[in-house]
Amino acid sequence: MARASETPFQKRMETFGRILQLERERGFEDRAVVGGLDRFLDQWREEPAAGADEGTAAALRNTEVFAGGYGDLTPEQREAWAGRVLTALRGLAAPADDVRPLPAPDSPPSRYRERATRSNPGSLSLESAPTVVRGIGPGIAQKLKTLGIETVRDLLYHHPRRHVPLARIADLVPGEEAAIVGTVWQAQVVRMGGKGMEATEAVLGDDTGNLRAVWFNQPFVARSVHANDTLLVTGNLRWHQGQRSFEPTSYEVVDADDDNLRLGRMLPVYPSTEGLTQRVLRRVVRNGLEAWLPRLADFLPPELARRLDLPHLADALWGHHYPENGEGRDAARRRLAFDELFLLQLTLLIRKREWGEEGDAVPLKASRKLLEAFLSSLPFTLTDAQRQSLREVLGDIAGRRPMARLLQGEVGSGKTVVALAAMLVCAAVQRQAAMMAPTEVLAEQHFLTVSRLLQGLSLPMAEPNLLAVYLDPHPRPITVGLLLGSHTRKEKAAMRERITQGLVDIVVGTHALIQGDVEMPNLALSVVDEQQRFGVVQRRALGEKGTRAHVLSMSATPIPRSLALTLYGDLDVSTISELPSGRQRVQTKWLRPDRRDSAYRWIRREVEMERQCFVICPLINESETLQTRAALEEHRRLTEEVFPDLRVGLLHGRMSLAEKRSIMEELRDGDIQILVATPVVEVGVDIPNATVMMIEGADRFGLSELHQFRGRVGRGEHASYCILMADDPSPEAQERLSVLENESDGFRVAEEDLRLRGPGELFGTRQSGLPELKLATLFDWELLRTARQEAARLVEADPRLEQLEHRPVAEALTPYLATVQPDFQPS
Ligand code: ADP
Ligand code: MG
Repeated sequence: MARASETPFQKRMETFGRILQLERERGFEDRAVVGGLDRFLDQWREEPAAGADEGTAAALRNTEVFAGGYGDLTPEQREAWAGRVLTALRGLAAPADDVRPLPAPDSPPSRYRERATRSNPGSLSLESAPTVVRGIGPGIAQKLKTLGIETVRDLLYHHPRRHVPLARIADLVPGEEAAIVGTVWQAQVVRMGGKGMEATEAVLGDDTGNLRAVWFNQPFVARSVHANDTLLVTGNLRWHQGQRSFEPTSYEVVDADDDNLRLGRMLPVYPSTEGLTQRVLRRVVRNGLEAWLPRLADFLPPELARRLDLPHLADALWGHHYPENGEGRDAARRRLAFDELFLLQLTLLIRKREWGEEGDAVPLKASRKLLEAFLSSLPFTLTDAQRQSLREVLGDIAGRRPMARLLQGEVGSGKTVVALAAMLVCAAVQRQAAMMAPTEVLAEQHFLTVSRLLQGLSLPMAEPNLLAVYLDPHPRPITVGLLLGSHTRKEKAAMRERITQGLVDIVVGTHALIQGDVEMPNLALSVVDEQQRFGVVQRRALGEKGTRAHVLSMSATPIPRSLALTLYGDLDVSTISELPSGRQRVQTKWLRPDRRDSAYRWIRREVEMERQCFVICPLINESETLQTRAALEEHRRLTEEVFPDLRVGLLHGRMSLAEKRSIMEELRDGDIQILVATPVVEVGVDIPNATVMMIEGADRFGLSELHQFRGRVGRGEHASYCILMADDPSPEAQERLSVLENESDGFRVAEEDLRLRGPGELFGTRQSGLPELKLATLFDWELLRTARQEAARLVEADPRLEQLEHRPVAEALTPYLATVQPDFQPS
């Protein structure tokens, strides 16, 4: 029922709402309006200011409502369109004195809005290939692909690396990069110097003066630049042979009255690739922005955007590419960074909620006696931090709610013992546990670590990939099996058979194998690596009868609690914050290659004092074969040339498990004095007598990796050393090396790692299926906290994001969530 106080606009909106409702009921067949919905919208568009006041009308034009072409869409596309439009309109129909949700019309109309042309929204999907954008053919598309741009969305979100200010000629400062817009008075090819080198020389002018621009070695520029053209050039003012001349780094002929080229504006400079000039990149990004932004719907709930004073998404994207000034750019960046953090937090919170809701886990109650039997078999006692973590884990798995916990602690802090205790508890109640790693080598190392921890209890076994232990009150041996793709077909078949029959209690292997190939009928606990967050595991973790496994993630890259909350908002976190006592601070030194001899002298000295040393070979590339070859060569060199009188051993990924074991044994017995190892063999050995860790090609490793290697020494009573060899480290690598020289605390190293890697490289969010952070950093504290609060608030109010105004958010999240989908189903 229309109320008397309603404005014509509100009436229109009501009608429109009813039409969409009808459309929905009729399966979006465009039958709600005689003549089609486009006709209704055409009429509405023609009304003066669409029957609304100027502000609302401007806001309305900013939505997709009048984009046209509804009739050409598929029912699915119509449905999506309706969802977006309804959300965008929701705030608009509010009483006139309500705050306007969209940007005030008094900001100067951006270029992209003026250029809005009527076209079919069906062809304007953000997921389309970039070739739908004007100016992008297959060649450019190929180049864009190497930049990671595979959709229109990627193009719009191809963030500038920086901006160059547009300056007046008179204000140019030698040596400072700037952009100018000038009229070309003259352009010609000239000879430079005696060697017949050609250049293009042009004279450019603006209101403040003239300038000579010289493109050295680029006579072809003269072909595309002509007198009276308006030229946009970026570059540097230099003194050349006593003359002031401008050396362009990019140029393009532009429209003289393009108002994005007003003074004071900033010109984007993009990350680019071979053969793709800034000029071309700028043009195609700009084309994309101009065509898509005018009808880009904002997925943020209008109420939220208003409260946080965030600009409309389209304005933010435009302002991030073409800001009016530094402040404008910051505001745009803030909005886009907020989006990233907000979507990340929402994903985490929703996953966490779903995890708890979708099915029960088997409660695994610990037998105190069995636990005691295990712990007392160890050659050490747990630290307080390990005890506390174990309590938390056992508390979780004793319940029906599936555990989703992250166990973090730096390398050597003793996470594996904690995980193993939980797996034994699981085995003791006749359930199976799985321990998974992303690679074969890591899986094998887990297995070796576990075998070492179970040493005091092990029964002799004939097979290298099976262990059996006897734990006191448990009536039969508990078995641990290793399942690797590289095992023979026969071995694998036999192991699978055993696992399926429930004869193996604890299975160690790769994610791929355990989740893909093998059925674990009694799986109740999964221990996974951090890279494989539980969100990914969760889809697979459902057991046969709809029960769900408890999941424990382990991370050796500890981060401060506040950050952990942010990054791992979907997990409960246990932190082992102390190292077992008796660990030494490892003195760390970065050496250039000309000091290699002194490093060897040091190693020799340590060996003479009966200590042992590791030499890690440089990281060559992913290829295990090359890696192995390098290790063989290094081993030969050290054996024959450097330490012919010492016992030098070798460990690489191509060795069989039995060979590796025997090398480890020799090492433990002191038969090997110096061990050469490939980096993939993350030396899962614990040799208190080892005092030197020498890392070749240290500049090629990440901070955390180096810190992990270093953690292999300093475990005994003796002073220990880490020698980082780096030939010609880049400035960034130098910074990493000096962080290591100065920091021994894993938390600090991890923080520095985060800082140096900058935004985006967020602990492999890409693999983990989480929204990427391109602009936001974890040091945007305020924004981070706001994003988390807002996400929590939204999920609290609408846990499944079902409300109309939350559908666009739900849609933005679909790539990251398995189950949340906008359920805008035609009834
Ligand atoms: P992480 O997995 O955290 O890197 P591990 O669990 O592999 O560490 O433990 C590293 C080494 O320290 C192992 O050899 C283990 O036997 C030993 N260790 C674990 N906890 C303790 C402890 N409380 N006291 C002494 N040594 C310990
Ligand atoms: Mg470990």
